[in-house]
Amino acid sequence: MKRFILFGAPGSGKGTMGEFIQRDFGYVRISTGDILRSEIEQGSADGRRARGHMESGGLVPDELVIELVRRRLGRDDLDGGYVMDGYPRTLAQAEALSAVPCASEKAIAIDVEEDEAVDRLLSRLTCRECGAIYNLRNKPPRTAGVCDLCGGVVERRSDDNEQAVRQRFRVYAERTLPVIGYYDLKGVLSRVDGRGAAAPVYGRVKELIS
Ligand code: ADP
Ligand code: ZN
Repeated sequence: MKRFILFGAPGSGKGTMGEFIQRDFGYVRISTGDILRSEIEQGSADGRRARGHMESGGLVPDELVIELVRRRLGRDDLDGGYVMDGYPRTLAQAEALSAVPCASEKAIAIDVEEDEAVDRLLSRLTCRECGAIYNLRNKPPRTAGVCDLCGGVVERRSDDNEQAVRQRFRVYAERTLPVIGYYDLKGVLSRVDGRGAAAPVYGRVKELIS
């Protein structure tokens, strides 16, 4: 089975690219951020452990995230291929993922400058139910506060505030840039210019997907 991995700082658009890839190619998008938020919604023990880390913009402990991904990858809906969005974010996670066999692997890093990304995050809205991504400025939901796709509540994510966003950037530089280096060394990494509107960025990403 095929595996794609999306890298990008918070606000780089990797979640949106993952949604587009799933829609057009049928590869299943696996977002660890969405999985963790759904654990929190359900009030599970895992969700309770994750919550504080997420709200402050830190990383959820490897051991917990690795286990959640292990469970997700164990389901039988991935034969057509899948896209990882937000995982791996640490070298330990990358090693855990590398231990899961796949027929082919491609990593895509979406580059965007911090100021543009922060700007996007502060006007971003997310569906609490399905994780669909909106933007107050250029892609609001058709009905204010209601998800076009599932009718769920659309709101600002609790970690999309300036302080948590800046912290997520620091963590990305410290913990996740080395992971991008890891995939570069493996020879499977491509880089995409993530500046500007989603459609042209997706045009560039699409060329790398097959
Ligand atoms: P973003 O990339 O914009 O920060 P995500 O939805 O991917 O948004 O992640 C939100 C938060 O969830 C992260 O700041 C982190 O706390 C947690 N998280 C998501 N994926 C991971 C991961 N692979 N390892 C550790 N924490 C994670
Ligand atoms: Zn929704």
